[in-house]
Amino acid sequence: MDYFQYKKNELFVENVSLTEIAKKFKTPLYIYSKATLVRHINAIKSVFKNTKTTICFAYKSNSNKHLLTILKEKGLGADCVSLGELLLARKVGVNPRKIVFNGNGKTDEEIKLAIKMNIKLINVDSIEELLNVSRIAKSLGRNPEIAFRLNPEIKVSTHPHIATGLKNSKFGIPLKHALDAYNLAKKLKTVRISGIHFHIGSQITEISPFVEALKKILLFSRKLKKQKILLKYVNIGGGLGVRYKEEVPVTLKEYAKKTIPYLKKIAPETILEPGRVLIANTGILLAKVILVKRTSKNFIVVDAGMNDLLRPSMYDAYHEILPVRIFPERKRENFDIVGPICESGDVLAKKRKLQTIYSGELLAIKGAGAYGYAMSSNYNLRPKPAEVLVDGEKFYEIRPRQRIEEIL
Ligand SMILES: *Cc1c(COP(=O)(O)O)cnc(C)c1O
Repeated sequence: MDYFQYKKNELFVENVSLTEIAKKFKTPLYIYSKATLVRHINAIKSVFKNTKTTICFAYKSNSNKHLLTILKEKGLGADCVSLGELLLARKVGVNPRKIVFNGNGKTDEEIKLAIKMNIKLINVDSIEELLNVSRIAKSLGRNPEIAFRLNPEIKVSTHPHIATGLKNSKFGIPLKHALDAYNLAKKLKTVRISGIHFHIGSQITEISPFVEALKKILLFSRKLKKQKILLKYVNIGGGLGVRYKEEVPVTLKEYAKKTIPYLKKIAPETILEPGRVLIANTGILLAKVILVKRTSKNFIVVDAGMNDLLRPSMYDAYHEILPVRIFPERKRENFDIVGPICESGDVLAKKRKLQTIYSGELLAIKGAGAYGYAMSSNYNLRPKPAEVLVDGEKFYEIRPRQRIEEIL
């Protein structure tokens, strides 16, 4: 459910027309709906409200400071994967006791900062990394809380680039080595063993991979208990899918209902790291048609490219594309919607049936709130777009367009 709707053949975000926003802030432009974001935050909070749960928003999916402030004010924490994201969480004012730190290649500098910030949990990705964390903790005279990221080896039906729980994944410790990792940590005494973590992938629309993983993790946690290693936290990661096209993702209610019984058995407190499910359908990318080119195919060339939204090129991702103004009398044709980047992979959408369209008109690319701006680049030396937040009748810039001088 989102607040991007047509009113009299004109696409609106909440109570503002996209044409009006484009007039003021130009294109390409990321536009977010505050009501949609708040609705999603409330939904996930409400299904876990009777449990002890910390929801750490995955900063990598969207790092707009203004949006992160809304998430913080609604009580959410931060899942960080770099020095930059740790510093950003601090800048946003997130309580360090709600920050977790992930990644398979944390540098000494990053580990040092995480320990000094006294964050809730460092998710250690390997036995090798444990030794680094241990060495740094000792040198700082601190005793940080850690979890191990385990790889439960679960197949998920998502794009291979975003499946992270497969047997040969670079992430996590295989279950068969996990007991060694915990025992080593116990022996070292430089860290406090607090949790268990897994994250099996992204855009997962079914419940079964989560339950399969939890079953394996529960069995393993019983082995820990036998060795008197008691866990405070079970961190189930993120990965919940959203509807981009015709997917029917598991509802939050069902997700909570099916996972909570396992979570409770594994540890007293749950940590969630949702990204996409909270933010994807909160944002769109607004683009302007530069020209319509007709060869053996019909191409709509727009002013947004793969540097603004990488997902279609990188993951073959589907994003719904809507004309901002509908002209019912126009005929409908098949189009490929492409960007201006000198790269034949710069295709935003293939073979879409759309009304005939002309240069200067606007298209909205939906589901662009997660891994949209966050993955944008200056490829082809193009400045990054601006970001705008709509709140009822109001709208304002929440990150300015990069100026060309900044990147020359
Ligand atoms: C990317 C990531 C997330 C968030 O994933 P979503 O699919 O956006 O929910 C959470 N945890 C870890 C460890 C990640 O790498």
